[in-house]
Amino acid sequence: MAEAGKVTMEKIVSLCQRRGFIFQSSEIYGGLSACWDYGPLGIELKRNVKEAWWRANVQQRDDVVGLDTSILMHPDVWIASGHVKAFADPLVECKVCNLRYRADELTSKVCTSCGGELTEPQMFNLMFKTHSGPIESEDNVVYMRPETAQGMFVNFANVQNTTRKKLPFGIAQIGKSFRNEITTGNFIFRCREFEQMEIEFFVKPGTDEQWFEYWVNQRFNWYINHGIKKESLKLRPHDKEELAHYAKMCSDVNFLFPMGWGELEGIADRGSFDLTQHMEHSGKSLTYFDEETKQTFVPWVIEPSAGVDRSVLAFLCDAYAEEPDKDEIRTVLHLHPAIAPVKVAVLPLSKKEPLAELSRKIYADLRLNWACQYDDAQSIGRRYRRQDEIGTPLCVTIDFQSLEDKQVTIRERDSMAQIRVGISELADAIKDKLKR
Ligand code: ATP
Repeated sequence: MAEAGKVTMEKIVSLCQRRGFIFQSSEIYGGLSACWDYGPLGIELKRNVKEAWWRANVQQRDDVVGLDTSILMHPDVWIASGHVKAFADPLVECKVCNLRYRADELTSKVCTSCGGELTEPQMFNLMFKTHSGPIESEDNVVYMRPETAQGMFVNFANVQNTTRKKLPFGIAQIGKSFRNEITTGNFIFRCREFEQMEIEFFVKPGTDEQWFEYWVNQRFNWYINHGIKKESLKLRPHDKEELAHYAKMCSDVNFLFPMGWGELEGIADRGSFDLTQHMEHSGKSLTYFDEETKQTFVPWVIEPSAGVDRSVLAFLCDAYAEEPDKDEIRTVLHLHPAIAPVKVAVLPLSKKEPLAELSRKIYADLRLNWACQYDDAQSIGRRYRRQDEIGTPLCVTIDFQSLEDKQVTIRERDSMAQIRVGISELADAIKDKLKR
């Protein structure tokens, strides 16, 4: 019998390319480093991750509202936030082959590629710079946002005034961010263009520690509730020395990627740093009036900040398995139904009529509610394999018997168990099985 192997990044990358989850950006031109394109299945997976996050953190809560702010912002935003001055990593360069490294990530004192001598570290700002308007001068420099968070801070008063939310309340946003990372790699783990899912949760000063604990638990459990194994996750509280100057507390949700533990999300207690900075630089008030105590103050903020692409990678790695199936090995993604790109595959046993007509009718009905695929090519065994490999939780097989008894077979991805159900009960049965 063939042997099932362990999950490696090569296997994940290969599956992603082979099945159309993720391609390299501008591949026909040799690719653009650290930029990736999501293919037909990848976009479904990515949308499901974002939707699951949005549902749990915005739609199912009374105390968080959504926002979508522009990528380009007034350049003073990034001066106030500290990014112009301090959003930098130490860069060293090999004097012989000119390869560049992040000094804090190097384990060797010489170039790991050619052994050459390295320059002294220089701070390298990670923000992408460009110009707004037709003149390329220092006066119209703008930055591609390196995080979505600042869009929430500068809109604090707009959101609070229009929604009349009382503290504690949060603002959530999902969107693209850009960082000119010195070293990239590990597939979509570290990109130069990526997406973030962030919440700025504003609280009364003095209540921050309890809200910090709350959000750390909330966010840790979100991954578990969406199918990530508990043993693949770890909380890593930051040491005092590691904290950014404005942060009081910070904890990372780490995931065990094939290359080792890596950060999925950071949850930080940022005090009143951001709103205070924006008040000082903009001259506008971003305070809050508490009607109960009649006090005016600057709210404090707890920030859970997650990466969409890193989450996608974590979901893929955690779900990937190679399992014995009779005398062979099947590759399967045990994705949570809410995350799986396709929920149901409709598989007629034959392309011939009247089986095809009945199958197409079933497919048309099911796709009103779920992302479905119709596949009538090759043997049924191969079709099951194809669906297992992309994580489709359920297959519906229609055979010649179905024409007689008006029943079809539902085959489950994880157990490979098969049951017969009446066509009239099919939608209810699927709904029930996709519940988790
Ligand atoms: P790292 O230490 O890995 O560089 P960070 O601590 O700088 O990450 P944050 O600024 O806290 O990251 O960003 C919040 C989240 O955004 C991260 O937990 C990660 O999921 C995601 N993220 C940050 N940088 C990248 C990147 N270059 N590519 C993909 N995702 C990223």
